[in-house]
Amino acid sequence: MGEREVRGGMSYKITRKVASRRLKRRCKYCNIGFIKGNVYYLYREVSGYDGKVYAYEHLECAKCNFKRKDWKRRYEKFRGKCVHPNEFVVEHWGYIPGEAVKQPEYDVCTLCGTKL
Ligand SMILES: [Zn+2]
Ligand SMILES: [Zn+2]
Repeated sequence: MGEREVRGGMSYKITRKVASRRLKRRCKYCNIGFIKGNVYYLYREVSGYDGKVYAYEHLECAKCNFKRKDWKRRYEKFRGKCVHPNEFVVEHWGYIPGEAVKQPEYDVCTLCGTKL
């Protein structure tokens, strides 16, 4: 269960849990505590660099988890509506194949990340 995303050498997983007792750890975002029966989310991130594996985890409450998801949803919605205002559009430069020279390849809207 939970969502999983893999990006390069990093992956994370969010698992929904119910506290079976009062927890020592608190929500990373709002610092709320969890007592028995509370729903919380365990965020666990594993990354690998140079053959070493690093793990990191934190707890988040249902409210903060929802807010973060909602932000993602709103961002996706916004992306579809972005009119790419000129002042936010930049030229992306890349190397000419086989040469150590860069050339403008395409324009990118820095607000929504769309290639134009
Ligand atoms: Zn919270
Ligand atoms: Zn845009």
